[in-house]
Amino acid sequence: MSAPLELTLTLYPSPVLRKVTPPISAFDEELQATVTGMLEVMYESGGIGLAAPQVGLGLRLLVINETGDREKADQELVLVNPTITSRGKETTLYEEGCLSFPEIYAEVSRPDACTVEAQDVKGEALSLELTGFLSRIVQHELDHLEGILLVDRMSAGDKLRNRAALENLVDDYKRSR
Ligand SMILES: [Zn+2]
Repeated sequence: MSAPLELTLTLYPSPVLRKVTPPISAFDEELQATVTGMLEVMYESGGIGLAAPQVGLGLRLLVINETGDREKADQELVLVNPTITSRGKETTLYEEGCLSFPEIYAEVSRPDACTVEAQDVKGEALSLELTGFLSRIVQHELDHLEGILLVDRMSAGDKLRNRAALENLVDDYKRSR
């Protein structure tokens, strides 16, 4: 097995976060190494989900562990080429964070339930009917694959409340270039 890819977290407003990701067609060792590398970044950053653009990769790929606990590897979910095929009618407003927006939180309204079609890391088809917290995480991460970010989903009030933190991220990004 190949070693995990060394990856680092990509923060807002890096342009890679805005790209719509193309589907993955090669289910090979490199994909497995990418998944392992992404899980490592997620756990190291204290996250519960991570999309490939958040480590600078234009791939239709998510890793999730709703416990955030690397000891609970049985809770890991790897979704390749995921799409939401149906959404429940009921919606809930719930506070979300994002590893690409450190220190920023905002309430986001999303459907409670969703059905997701995807492939696993070996290319086997998956169909998942999700509710609750896991449904929310998957919807948040799937947004990343379409270039949609927390800042797009937040209310005008939350944007105002987080304005200084958002401006700091933009300043940090400009300074890093
Ligand atoms: Zn996010």
